[in-house]
Amino acid sequence: MTGQRVVVPGGETGHVEVRAGQLVEVVNTLGGQVVDTWFFSLEDPDEYTSMSHSRAAMRTLRPRVGDSFVTRSRRPIVTLRADTSPGVHDMTMPPCDPWRYAQLDARGHRNCADNLRAVLRDTGRKCPDVLPDPLNLFQNSPADADGHIEFLESPAAAGATVRFEALRDLLVVVSACPMDIMPINGGQPREIELVALEPDEEPE
Ligand SMILES: [Zn+2]
Repeated sequence: MTGQRVVVPGGETGHVEVRAGQLVEVVNTLGGQVVDTWFFSLEDPDEYTSMSHSRAAMRTLRPRVGDSFVTRSRRPIVTLRADTSPGVHDMTMPPCDPWRYAQLDARGHRNCADNLRAVLRDTGRKCPDVLPDPLNLFQNSPADADGHIEFLESPAAAGATVRFEALRDLLVVVSACPMDIMPINGGQPREIELVALEPDEEPE
């Protein structure tokens, strides 16, 4: 067993580096927690998951098992291999950031944008001028037939797990979203886990 396991307290951030072919799991340990997730190529700092390009490539707003996320240059970078949650994820929202909390009268609130910046800084990596939108795992922000979007509680149960396969050598960054004003995390950010596995460690 050579896998790495990172426990991320609610509101905080974690990361792992994996080689192409390795697997990465995001575990909703206690349920109901949104996890902002980014994948960056270790070789090329300009290559990372782009949600707009991935929506176009996948022809969907919600990723399904078998879908591959792409970069701005439309190259596949990571594939969704398994999902034990209800499959409710968001590919449309930016990370929460200081301006969002200022609008909500909560200046100085911890936020996913600064969590990502901290990881990029601490790992000595270039931070894009415009932060890439995350894959918001377990986020329930559906659009109705008129295009109206709502922010609802996450339906992910305790232990719900999403598994990815790295198609390139990757830095994987997660933020256990600290939002406790809007209802997306049930009002209380909770712990999650980030797990890196070797290909032969994949559960059946
Ligand atoms: Zn957030």
